[in-house]
Amino acid sequence: MTPLGETLATQGVHTLIAQFTDVHGVAKGKFVPLAHLDTLLNEGAGFAGPSIWGTGLPRTGPRSEYYGRGDAPTARALPWMPGYARIVCDGFVAGEPFDACPRQVLRGQVARLAERGWTLRTGIEPEFFLLRRTAHGLAAADADDGLDKPSYDLKTLPRQRDFLKQLSDGLTACGLDVFQIDHEDAHGQYELNFHHADALTSADHLMLFKMAAHAIAEQHGSLFSMMPKPFANQPGSGMHFHVSLWEGASCVENDHFIAGVLQHSAALCALAAPTVNSYKRLVVGESLSGTSWAPAYVAHGPNNRTALVRTLPGRFEWRLPDASANPYLATAGLIAAGLDGVDRKLPLGPACTDDLFKLTLAEIRTRGIAVLPQSLSEATDALAADEVICSALGDTLSGEFIRLKREEWTAYARHVSAWETARYATAF
Ligand code: GLU
Ligand code: MG
Repeated sequence: MTPLGETLATQGVHTLIAQFTDVHGVAKGKFVPLAHLDTLLNEGAGFAGPSIWGTGLPRTGPRSEYYGRGDAPTARALPWMPGYARIVCDGFVAGEPFDACPRQVLRGQVARLAERGWTLRTGIEPEFFLLRRTAHGLAAADADDGLDKPSYDLKTLPRQRDFLKQLSDGLTACGLDVFQIDHEDAHGQYELNFHHADALTSADHLMLFKMAAHAIAEQHGSLFSMMPKPFANQPGSGMHFHVSLWEGASCVENDHFIAGVLQHSAALCALAAPTVNSYKRLVVGESLSGTSWAPAYVAHGPNNRTALVRTLPGRFEWRLPDASANPYLATAGLIAAGLDGVDRKLPLGPACTDDLFKLTLAEIRTRGIAVLPQSLSEATDALAADEVICSALGDTLSGEFIRLKREEWTAYARHVSAWETARYATAF
């Protein structure tokens, strides 16, 4: 056995979780007995390609097989699942890196940065809900806490301390540096922060966070959810990215990069806010939940949380992504957009210091501030029209992504909701 296999064995590991991420940002994989680690690292675990969302692989022939090949340094024993270790896999087809694997797509964009001697560091901030099942469906864990504004509340946060402590300890044991956990603006909504890392590692960390939170919440009798907006009258869950560009140990000036991110924001919406539900968070004007802190305005400003990009010394916060985003694809799109801004030396417009949530839509427009797409359909069309972002995703993935998102939109649009029957059934 390799030294890695021996180390894992001494940690009590008997089974590997060979994990990859599908186009929707969902963790998928297989159990592989530790004795087969070498095959997992050299060849990969085989999967029926067309059974995985977004691969576009055929049902027959050599290209029907998708291999998840383990990336050795990512192997970690999981304290919340004794005996199991997670290892992140890259997609391979017919012995070659698979161009529609989200992790390979991100690797491609990271390589473009590396050609310039740059690295991108991201700190991804997941917000999430803890839910419970009731006779009437799903409710927030603390739906009846009686608070008008649960943000940072120290009566409600401690109620979840056993879950949060196990989650934080588990992630820390896996190498994430967890530094803050809080109660967010909605009932039963929390945020857990871990230290930033290079773009690929951060995306891997975010997926590990999701896997851990799902499993540990279940052990505590709750349901963990990164649905962007589970309740119309409560704020939704963002997944903000703190972004910095580096050349060795020095920060790279990032004005053109930010200008590119703003310029491509309509297309980036499809990657960063990829569900029908995402657009109930990202609303222009009044939301049913009041101020939601979700940015619908294409602007940037120093420490301005009402703008899409909040600038901070040496970094910026990209506030567009929500909790349903695939971290690999959102980051890949971000890099492609930023590099386009750098290549074209796009000027960064004036910084905005206003509270944009206080301005009317007419005032926003007078200032020349664009608003984000207001539906998955609009965002998908914007992505389809954006050659820079589509080419970063590659033909297969962009084609599959756009096809799946259009199907998702149509399925939603054809659905007759309870809101419609309440409003129309007796009205006409
Ligand atoms: N929940 C807000 C969002 O959907 C963000 C709140 C915050 O800034 O922490 O983006
Ligand atoms: Mg937050």
